[in-house]
Amino acid sequence: MSFNPWEKIAQLSRKEIRALQNQKLRQFINEQLYPFSPHYKKLFDQNRIDPRQIRTIEDLKHIPFSSKLDLLDNKPGENRFREFVLQPDPEKIKKAWPPAKLLSLAGEKIVKGADYVQEKISREYRPNFMTFTTGTTNRPTPFLYSRYDVDNLYLYGERMISAMSIGSQDKLVNMFPYAPHLAFWQVAFGGVAGCVLIMSTGGGKVMGTDGNIKVLSMMQPAVIIGVPSYVYHVLRTANEQGVKLPSVKKVVLGAGRVDESLKARLRYELEGMGAQGVSVFGTYGFTEARCAWVECPTVPGITSGYHLYPDKEIFEIIDPQTGEVKGEGGDGEIVYTTIDSRGSAVLRYRTGDFVKGGITWEPCPHCQKTVPRLSSDITRISDTKDLNLSKVKGQLVNFDNFAAALNEFNEIREWQIEIKKRNNDPHDLDEMFIYLCPNKGVDTAKLEREIKSKIMLATEVSPNAIMFVSFEEMVNRLQLETANKEKRILDNRPKN
Ligand SMILES: [Zn+2]
Repeated sequence: MSFNPWEKIAQLSRKEIRALQNQKLRQFINEQLYPFSPHYKKLFDQNRIDPRQIRTIEDLKHIPFSSKLDLLDNKPGENRFREFVLQPDPEKIKKAWPPAKLLSLAGEKIVKGADYVQEKISREYRPNFMTFTTGTTNRPTPFLYSRYDVDNLYLYGERMISAMSIGSQDKLVNMFPYAPHLAFWQVAFGGVAGCVLIMSTGGGKVMGTDGNIKVLSMMQPAVIIGVPSYVYHVLRTANEQGVKLPSVKKVVLGAGRVDESLKARLRYELEGMGAQGVSVFGTYGFTEARCAWVECPTVPGITSGYHLYPDKEIFEIIDPQTGEVKGEGGDGEIVYTTIDSRGSAVLRYRTGDFVKGGITWEPCPHCQKTVPRLSSDITRISDTKDLNLSKVKGQLVNFDNFAAALNEFNEIREWQIEIKKRNNDPHDLDEMFIYLCPNKGVDTAKLEREIKSKIMLATEVSPNAIMFVSFEEMVNRLQLETANKEKRILDNRPKN
C-alpha cells in the first residue's frame, strides 16, 4: 500500500470522527492545556471551570472565547504570548498525567535512564521554531513550535500536497515572501516533508520580479505557490515578456482572498504561456493555528472548500454578536481550538474571519474524503472597527500604527498615506504612497530614509515612494478645509 498522510482520518464516519475529537479534546485539556498553560489555567480557575467537566465538543460553550486582544501587551515587556506556551515541569506532570502514562514513563526511566526520559519530554515541549502574526501591534506576536509541532507542520504539508494531487515528479516554485510567517514555512517544510522538489524564491523582495521569472523559466515547474496579487503580477509580467511555461498544472494561492475572477485571470495568463487546464487552489491558514488547509482539484467555477484536520483541531462557527454556536452550514465567525499541540496553544480562538456557508460534513464529492470542509467564502479582518485593520501588500496592517510611527517625527508638518492598486486593476499589486509636508529647513533625504525604516518596523510594509508636497497641496489632499474628518489614510483600491 502506498503512503497516505490522510490515512485513518479521511475515511471515518462522522460519528467516528466526533468520538475521536471528543476523546482528544478531553485528553488535551486535562493532560496538556489546563496543567501546563498559564493563560488557560488562570482562565479556567477564574471562571470556576473544572477541566474534567469538558467532555465533548458541546461542552466547549462553557469556556470563554480567546482572541487577538488576549495576546496584546498592555505595557512593554509584558510578553503575554508566553502565557499561551505549554510549560510542564515534573511536579505538574505528576499531578496531571494518568497513572498508566506515568507508569510507562517510569518503566522507560528504568530501562533507558533518567536522562533519556528527561530529554524525551524536553524535546516534546522545548520551542525550536517560531512564526509571527503581522501588523496588529508594533511588536508582532510570536507563536512557538516544539519538535512535536514541527512534525505536525510536516504532516499538514504532506496532507496538502496529497489533497491537491501533486505528484512526486512535480516540481514546485514557492514565491511566498521569505519571512518568519506561516505561509512561507508551511510550504517550504511541506515540500521537504512531501519529498517533492521545491524551490523557494523568497518572493519579490528577495529575488525581484525578474529573478522570480528566471526561476520559473529555468525550473519549468508544475506548481506555482504564493500570494495572489504577487503571483498574478509575476505571471502577467512573464506573459508580457513572452516567457513560456507549458509545464504549469497548478497554482496554489494563500494569504489573501481568492475569488473566481482571479482564478480565471491566472488561467488566462498561463494559457498565454502554453499551459493548458491549470487548476487554481486557495489555501486558508493563520499563525495561531500554525497550520494551513487546502482545497482539492475541481472543475473551474466550483470549489471544494478547505479540507480540515479533525484529528488536530475543532472548528466552531459562531454568531459574532451573541457568541452562539451555529449549526452545520451556518454563516458566522470562525473559532479555532487545537486538540493536538505543544508550544503555543489556543482554545476557542476567535479568528475575526467570517465564513459564508460554514462547515459541511458531507463527504467531498470531488475527492471522497470524509473530513469536514470549511467553505472557501471567507472574508478576513472583521475587527476593522476596533483595531482599524486592513491588508496592505499581503500584510495585515493596523492603520493606527502608521499614525503612531509618522507622528513621532517632529520634522513632519502634515502627512497622508494613499493605498492604490497598480494600474487600478483589482487583481494587481497594492501600492502605498506617503505624502509629506516637512517643516522648513528639514533634510528631506535623511527624513525619507528614517521614515522608510520606521514604517517598515511598525507595519512590515514598505512604501513604494515618499513624495514631498507643499503645505497648500497637502491641505487640499487631506481635505482639511472641506471634509468633516481629514483624509489621513486613503484606501483607493477598487472594490472587487
Ligand atoms: Zn475534496
